[in-house]
Order: sequence, then C-alpha cells, then structure tokens
Amino acid sequence: MAQTIIDTHSHIGTTIRSGQGQDVATWLEAMDAAGIGQSIISVAAGGLQAGGLADTRAMNEIIANALQQHPDRFPIGLGGIEVRHGEAGHAEVRRALGELGLRGMVFHATFEGFSVDSPAFHAVLAAAGRRKALILLHSTPDGRANPTAIGAVAAKFPNLTFVLGHPVFTEDQRKQAAAAVKANANLHLDLAYQDDPKTTEFFVTEVGADRVYYGSDAPYFDPAKVIATEVIAEGLPDAVDARIADVCALAIRHRAVSLLVAHNHPSGDPTPSEYDYELTKSLLVAGELLDIRLIDHLIVAGSSYRSIHDETLKKGAPWELYRAAGGAS
Ligand SMILES: [Zn+2]
Ligand SMILES: [Zn+2]
Repeated sequence: MAQTIIDTHSHIGTTIRSGQGQDVATWLEAMDAAGIGQSIISVAAGGLQAGGLADTRAMNEIIANALQQHPDRFPIGLGGIEVRHGEAGHAEVRRALGELGLRGMVFHATFEGFSVDSPAFHAVLAAAGRRKALILLHSTPDGRANPTAIGAVAAKFPNLTFVLGHPVFTEDQRKQAAAAVKANANLHLDLAYQDDPKTTEFFVTEVGADRVYYGSDAPYFDPAKVIATEVIAEGLPDAVDARIADVCALAIRHRAVSLLVAHNHPSGDPTPSEYDYELTKSLLVAGELLDIRLIDHLIVAGSSYRSIHDETLKKGAPWELYRAAGGAS
C-alpha cells in the first residue's frame, strides 16, 4: 500500500553561509518530483544575519505563512533565532511558538557559532520549554554539536522533543547518536543529507524504526537524487524483452522508492507502441504493490523522445491507474 512520505528536515529561505536556498513554490515542486507528500519546514539555519533580529522575524513569518497557505503539505513549521540576540531572541522564540503558530525551533550550532552545552543556548531552550516544542538540532561530528552533547541537552530538557539532524557523517557520530537516542526517550534522529541504505539499517536496528525519521535537508540535499542506473535489457531493432520482475528486482535491490524507465526506438520514431503502454501499465500496477513509484517511461529516438506519463495525461487517463481505479489506497 502506498504510504505518504513525510520529510522531517527541509528548509525554506537562504543560508547566509552559502547563499543557497529555496522558496516555498520551489520546494513544493521538488516535493512533487520526489514523491514527498508532506514536510516539516524550517528556516534556513546557519550564519549571522545582516539585518539581525529583523531578518529573524521575517524568516519566521515566511514559515508561518507557508503553513497557513499549505496546511495539507506542511503540517509543522520550525522557526529560528540567533542565540547571540539574548533576551530579544527569547522573545522571538515565544512569538514564534505563540502567535505565529510554529511548533518548534531549528538550530545549527556549528554554522551559527555556539555550543549546544552553552548557558546562552540553554536559556533559549528554557524560553521554549513550557510549550513542549520540537527542537531540530543539526548534528556535526565536532564538539559544538556532536550527538553525545545533544543527548546531554535532551536529558536536561525532558519537556522538549529533540531531533538529531543528520548524525550520519562518521562512524563515531553514528555510534554516539544511537547511544544518545537509546538513553533519552525525548530524542529522535533523522537520516538527512545522505542516501546510504546501510545507514538506515544501522539506526533502525540500533534504536527502532519509530525513532528514525526520513529527512532530506533540502535544498542542500536533493531528495530525488538518482541512486543507481541499470541496463535491464538490450533488444533487437524492433523488440525488447523486458520482464516486469527483472525491473522490479533491480529497484528492490537498490531500495529505490521511485523508478524511471526508458528505452529507445532505433527506427527514429518515438511514438510509443501498444506494448510500451501495456508494459507501463504493468509497471504501475507492480509499483503500487511494492510501493515503488513509477516516475515515467521515456521513449528515446534519435534526438527526440516521448514521455508515456505525458501521453497518458494528454489522453485524459490518470497516471496512477491502479490507485485511481480504487484498487488500493
Ligand atoms: Zn538542515
Ligand atoms: Zn517501444
């Protein structure tokens, strides 16, 4: 059965540090392309803002507006403040979690230049403390935000729920994260910024699936990243024998959540054959059962191509045939 993919770690806005960022419309498009149904959006963490607190307030308002406009896509939004702003920052935490309707805050200690064990940061968490907020703390292997240090913060603030953001970069960091999550019931972790199934397996085995969240860290990591490219069959000039089972077996072996299939017509005419449509339909049905989304089936001929996805929509037929027919939900 198809599941809704929820991305727990995504950012709206621009990171001062890298100048990289995305707006709400861009992210919604990327979510659709990656098959992500909903996401927790947070401000773009990292770096001192030129406009100081005014920038912070504006960023938090962008998140709040996005939640109001797209409640079906963004169930939760996280705001941010700079620890250096002291009491004025605490007031903004209260505003973000109060009138703006945000459910938590995001921090990147390493980029923002503070340590998670510093009194100034703990004062910020105390300002959020009475509201049972969700705190996303980007983890890095260094001392400012390693998982052990974040575990100690979670222990000190049992009323808050913490997510260790992407504790995935070194083996030591992964081990620290597993130990910290096991030791603190209010600590969870996300798998952002990487695409190695072994990392997922490690954490699910160590701490249990209910403490491990999918996250992308978009736009800094592409959630629709191609994880593998495989040749399934080589055919004769006018025919190729591709078994649905072989296509699906490759997708399963790579733990793929989606699949893009292509083949060529040496004739130079990219018009899909009846068999191409039949094959596509079978892949859609199989994908529905296996929870592997067929993105498209492309026919390439010389320098032109046809998308069976687009051809199907042009004919007024739904792409997700089986689901649309009410066969599964
Ligand atoms: Zn992030
Ligand atoms: Zn064909």
